[in-house]
Amino acid sequence: MVPHMPHLLVTNDDGVHAPGLAALAAALRPLGRVTVLAPERNWSASGHVKTLHKPLRVHDTQLADGSPALACTGAPSDAVALALLGLLDLPVDLVVSGINPHANLGHDVTYSGTVTAAMEACIFGVPGVAVSTEHTQAIGYEPAAAMAAKVAAWVLDHGLPAGLLLNVNIPALPAGAIRGIKLTRQGQRVYRDALVTRQDPRGRPYYWIGGEDPSGLEDPGTDFAALAAGWVSITPLHLDLTADWAAAALAGLVGPHPAA
Ligand code: MN
Repeated sequence: MVPHMPHLLVTNDDGVHAPGLAALAAALRPLGRVTVLAPERNWSASGHVKTLHKPLRVHDTQLADGSPALACTGAPSDAVALALLGLLDLPVDLVVSGINPHANLGHDVTYSGTVTAAMEACIFGVPGVAVSTEHTQAIGYEPAAAMAAKVAAWVLDHGLPAGLLLNVNIPALPAGAIRGIKLTRQGQRVYRDALVTRQDPRGRPYYWIGGEDPSGLEDPGTDFAALAAGWVSITPLHLDLTADWAAAALAGLVGPHPAA
């Protein structure tokens, strides 16, 4: 019997021509058949999107290495939905999203198109892995791509429990300097956004969300701490956002209506 050749869908939120995607696709090709379907433009920080009120278009393109790819007009999560709803002839065994040029840590996961692409896979019952790094020109994407391939190979071999996706962040280190892989929890992002107000040429105000780059708290066990210490951070995520701990705080709100 011929063993099943895995089919991997590669997408991202930076646009199909981003170098992080090309590096990821190249690193994953030894694992099986790779289909690239990604947004035609940058959707970074646009969250979990479902395009319902305008058409989605898909066109052929190619990556810098000449390999074929598909580009779509939708968001990263739309790209995954298109693929898993039947655009592709073959069933998809694994969705890998990235490699994002900036880490996606803490609350970033709610903004991140990279992570929400993996969330969309999870909704379809397909294992999803989001891959991000702090890209530098000196290091390039190859060490992160090699780690992504290692994680993807493990997931293809072992699967993921239903409802789980992996948020993988890889330190910007040469391959030999990465210390290993740690399972982490979401840490606390510290955003330092500031509203910038200016005037347009007609005298009306417009606004930009500006401010300094965010930082994060490197609490033990968190994604921030692992990355800062040179480890690959894998945070297992699920889409159930229920705050079980809130029951006591809200106890006075709930209960049956008083008898009439
Ligand atoms: Mn991005």
